[in-house]
Amino acid sequence: QAKSEGPGKWTMFDSSMHQRVRERVDIEVDLRKALPAETSDGSAVSPQLHLAYQPIVELRTGGLLGAEALIRWNHPTRGAIPPGAFIPIAEDTGLIAKIGRWVLRESVRQLAEWRRTGTVTDDFWVSVNVSPRQLRDPHLPDVLASTLTDYGVPPRVVVLEITESVMIDASAVTDEVLRQMRELGVRIVVDDFGTGYSALGYLRRHPVTGVKIDRAFVRGLGVDAEDEEIVRAVTAMSSALGLTVVAEGVETPTQQGVLAELGVVMGQGMLWSAPIGPARFGERWSALRSVPALPPGSPVVPS
Ligand code: C2E
Ligand code: MG
Ligand code: MG
Ligand code: MG
Repeated sequence: QAKSEGPGKWTMFDSSMHQRVRERVDIEVDLRKALPAETSDGSAVSPQLHLAYQPIVELRTGGLLGAEALIRWNHPTRGAIPPGAFIPIAEDTGLIAKIGRWVLRESVRQLAEWRRTGTVTDDFWVSVNVSPRQLRDPHLPDVLASTLTDYGVPPRVVVLEITESVMIDASAVTDEVLRQMRELGVRIVVDDFGTGYSALGYLRRHPVTGVKIDRAFVRGLGVDAEDEEIVRAVTAMSSALGLTVVAEGVETPTQQGVLAELGVVMGQGMLWSAPIGPARFGERWSALRSVPALPPGSPVVPS
């Protein structure tokens, strides 16, 4: 009871609490206004919400493999608000349902456009973050399936990123949703792997195809022997289970080198690129431009 600690304490407690609650309500109200309006053709436009794309590359060569779609909110008066400041509120208030559907649709639409224009290769994939609450919606597999059909995108080039908590608290509905989506043919990876409490058993019990090693363990590589042991263990375990591994938050060539030695094949991080808007992504990473010109005098190899 804060009140019994004296009026001064009460006031301090009350005002900071009040401020926090108010901040959350402000965000909720503004987020509601930022929600994309659905248009008659089923597409949805939002002047405030955008997706940025961060390349996922082959760790040794830096060659483009896929990209993670990350939501961006450009607030009319407050400017950019990071997802960490509004996604949890969207989860609590249920707004995530609408936001999540928009993220899914917009990322699949963008992927279809890149595929059509030859900007990306046939195997290039887009990873989409799916929050725990979305996975409790039994309609999600159908929504995903029709989105893919609408844009003519094959399921094998879509990856869903789920959190460890989803596997730990999984309900019958979530289990069924995950199973149906995996059956559809999309891949499912566990994001921020190692930060929760999941064990090998969880990975085996759920239809996941890979893990993303949290950047907390990537940070210390080359300096902290313990981080190296954790990454080594995760890599060994994943390879035994036939799971793919992406290292996230790769910032330095040292980290890249240690990861490659440990057998990690894929990476994502500032070393290669920050998350960037789709136009810039197309310019910088286009498959149309990455075909290297043959050096003069090189033998012509029949293909
Ligand atoms: P995440 O899915 O683990 O995404 C990776 C985060 O690491 C991104 O932060 C990215 O900008 C950041 N990052 C990338 N490379 C580096 C690096 O080299 N160093 C460091 N320090 N950070 C790096 P961001 O965009 O702020 O997103 C934060 C989290 O918000 C995401 O973490 C994800 O959990 C959530 N989120 C983002 N977009 C969505 C979305 O569309 N739906 C849902 N449900 N969650 C989202
Ligand atoms: Mg992610
Ligand atoms: Mg992550
Ligand atoms: Mg993360």
